[in-house]
Amino acid sequence: MEAKPTAITNEIPEIKFTKLFINGEFVDSVSGKTFETIDPRSGEVITRVAEGDKEDVDLAVKAAREAFDHGKWPRMSGYERGRIMMKFADLIEENVEEIAILDTINAGKILAHGKMLDIPFAAKNLRYYAGAADKIHGKTLKLSQEMHGYTLLEPIGVVGHIIPWNFPSAMFFHKCAPALAAGCTMIVKPAEQTPLSALYYAHLSKLAGIPDGVLNVVNGFGPTTGAAICSHMDIDKVSFTGSTEVGRVVMHAAAASNLKVVSLELGGKSPLIIFDDADLEKAVDLALLGVLYNKGEICVAGSRVYVQEGIYDAFVKKAAEKAKTWVVGDPFHPNTQQGPQVDKKQFNKILSYIDQGIREGATLLTGGKQVGEKGFYIEPTIFTDVKEYMPIVKDEIFGPVMALMKFKTVEEAIQKANNTRYGLAAGIITNDLNLANTVSRSIRAGVIWINCYFAFDFDCPFGGYKMSGFGKDLGMEALEKYLQTKSVVTPIYNSPW
Ligand code: ADP
Repeated sequence: MEAKPTAITNEIPEIKFTKLFINGEFVDSVSGKTFETIDPRSGEVITRVAEGDKEDVDLAVKAAREAFDHGKWPRMSGYERGRIMMKFADLIEENVEEIAILDTINAGKILAHGKMLDIPFAAKNLRYYAGAADKIHGKTLKLSQEMHGYTLLEPIGVVGHIIPWNFPSAMFFHKCAPALAAGCTMIVKPAEQTPLSALYYAHLSKLAGIPDGVLNVVNGFGPTTGAAICSHMDIDKVSFTGSTEVGRVVMHAAAASNLKVVSLELGGKSPLIIFDDADLEKAVDLALLGVLYNKGEICVAGSRVYVQEGIYDAFVKKAAEKAKTWVVGDPFHPNTQQGPQVDKKQFNKILSYIDQGIREGATLLTGGKQVGEKGFYIEPTIFTDVKEYMPIVKDEIFGPVMALMKFKTVEEAIQKANNTRYGLAAGIITNDLNLANTVSRSIRAGVIWINCYFAFDFDCPFGGYKMSGFGKDLGMEALEKYLQTKSVVTPIYNSPW
C-alpha cells in the first residue's frame, strides 16, 4: 500500500467560538459543563466546547418561541428575509478559508473539498432559498358552494434541527436555509463530534442581521440535548439527519410528546450498478469515488457495487490497482484523497466490520488495515466473494469499504439492488439510455444518478425511500417541510350564516 499519511499540519487557528448560542448571545451552559472536541488526524484535543443539556434546550426554545410568536422574522416580508439571507451567504463566502479549516480539524474533511464544495454549496443553498422567500404563496380555491376560499402557507413554527458530523457545514444549511426562508425560528444541535463550524455560522447569522432568538445553536450529546429537543412540548417540528436507529428514537419521542412533525434523512447502503458497456476506466473511478469520497462517511456512499459479468474480472483488477494508489493522509495536504475517519468509535466500528467480513469468508481484495499509527486513517478496502446475507453487504458501515459483486442479467441487478431495507440512492453506469431508464424506474431509492455519482444540487430534492427516511432536504420540497397550510373560507354574497 503506497498510501501514507503525509506530515500532519500543525497550524490550528485560534478557535473563536466555543459557547452555546442562545437568543443572539454566546453563553455558557447552565451546568457550566464543557466537553472535548477532537482532531481525528491525531486523536488530540482541539479545545473544549460548552455542553448543553435539557435546561439549555429549554432556554433556546424559549428564545425561539418568543422570536416566532412575537418577533419580526416570521412577520417581515419574504423579500426582507431573503435579503438578510443573501448577506449571510456573502459572509460565509468571505470566511470560507477559516470555516473550512474548522471542518477539516474537527471532521477530518479534506480542506480543498470544504473550500470548493461544502462551504460554497452552503452559501449557494442559502441564496437559493433566499430567492424563494418572497415566492411563498397558497392557492385560490373554487369551492362547490357560494364561498371564496384560499390557502395561506404559514411557517410551521419553532424547529429543532439535529444534524450529523459527516457534513457539518452542508447539513447545517440543508436544514436552516429552507427553514429561515419559510419564516421559522430554530434550535440547531450539531453532532457532538463536530461542534465548531456551527458556532461560526451562528456568529455570522448575527452579523447578517438575523434577529436574536431566530437561530440558536446548542451543542451537546444525543441522549441529552438531542433527546430534549425531540420531546420538547414547544417545538413544532424536528428535522433529523443521522442513523436509522436514532431516527426511530426521534420519531418515538416526537409521538410521545406533542406529536411534532418529523422528517428523517437516515442511513443507506446504496447500490452502484455497472453494465458491460461501461467505459471501464471511468466506471472504476466513479465506483471508487462513490465509496471513498469523504472516507465513506456519507449516507449515499455507493458501498454495494454490482458489475456485469462481461467486465467483472477486468473491473476487479483495475479497482484493486487504483485503490492501492489512493492517497490517504493529512486532509490539509493538496494531494490527499482521503482523510481520517471522524473519531475512534467510528474507526473501530469500520475495522470490526472488516474483520467480520474476513472471518465470514469474503475475499479481501485490497486494504483492510489502519494507515500509519496516529489518527484514524483506514485503507481503501474492497471485498469480493461476498454473500448477500453478510453484514458488510447489508449494513451501513460509513467507512471506505466496498462490497463488489457480479451479476448476469438486468433483472438480477434490479433484484439485488433492491434487496436492502434502505432506499437512499443508487447509481447506474451504462451508455444504453433505455436500460438506464428501465433500471432507474425499478430501483426503490430517493435519488438515482446515471453515469455520475454525488450529483447534489440545491434544486434537486434529496431524501430516502424505505428505512432511509422521509421528507426531502433541498429543492422546493424542503421549503414545504417548514410550511403548513391554512385554509380560509368566506361567503361570496351575504350569506344566511
Ligand atoms: P451516527 O451514528 O452517524 O453518529 P447518530 O444518528 O448517532 O449518527 O447521530 C446523528 C445526530 O443525532 C447527532 O447530532 C447525535 O447527537 C444525535 N442523536 C443521537 N442520539 C440521539 C437521541 N437519542 N435523540 C436525539 N438525537 C440523538
